[in-house]
Amino acid sequence: MKIQVLGCYGGQLLGFHLSSFLVNGSILLDAGSPTISLTLEEQRYIKHVFVSHTHLDHIQDIAFLADNRALKRMGDEAVSQSITIHSLQDNLETLQEHFLNNKVWPDFTKIPTASDPILKMNAIEPLKSIEVDGVRITPILMEHPVPCTGFLLEQDDKQFMYSADTGITDEFWRVANAQPNLRGIIMDCSFPNAYAHLAEISGHLTPHSMAKELEKLDSLGTTPIYLFHMKPETLNVMTAEVEAEDIPHLRMLTQVDELLL
Ligand SMILES: [Zn+2]
Ligand SMILES: [Zn+2]
Repeated sequence: MKIQVLGCYGGQLLGFHLSSFLVNGSILLDAGSPTISLTLEEQRYIKHVFVSHTHLDHIQDIAFLADNRALKRMGDEAVSQSITIHSLQDNLETLQEHFLNNKVWPDFTKIPTASDPILKMNAIEPLKSIEVDGVRITPILMEHPVPCTGFLLEQDDKQFMYSADTGITDEFWRVANAQPNLRGIIMDCSFPNAYAHLAEISGHLTPHSMAKELEKLDSLGTTPIYLFHMKPETLNVMTAEVEAEDIPHLRMLTQVDELLL
């Protein structure tokens, strides 16, 4: 399994892209930044987008991914492949009502035709696995102000986990501790310690609360931990605070990272 970091920040600033991870070139976990991180040629290989939740920083590029695909399709039949959006039913309804509603953005689930659209929707359920492009993906409910799932990914007897946006949780760690060959975890770490209250009410973690969460992981010290969703303007403070926690095999992600499992 190859995981390319397209964006790993909880805010958008010059040089800092929103959360988006490309798995094996064809599966996206969240869509904060694929169109500013990938060439048009690379974008055409995307067939599946797993959306953790409907906060704008995780969905905004669905709009431009679809738009780019639509234009390309008009000129080239070979790229007529649809993109399937996989998320909780609640989230699919939110996308349809408030985003792809022909007001904020065209409804690409009916363009160019309802029978062969650019975007398809597929409802997924917590702890029910589906397999796409050879990767088995299981949603896990997380703690966030809106319905949100992290994901367990499995391929070739190796597992990888993505927390998406989350505060304090037990379910994710229960699943993590049940994996025989867990090769890494991408974990929320959004605000500096001074913003602990904000992190708590917005369903996120600080370096300190993240470190407390990791105590629930049996393989801590062996399984690599990659932090994401840092607020870019607080990166210096957060880097120092993460280092002070002194946790082995843990680091903040950067946008050029490529994880090979
Ligand atoms: Zn969120
Ligand atoms: Zn977010």
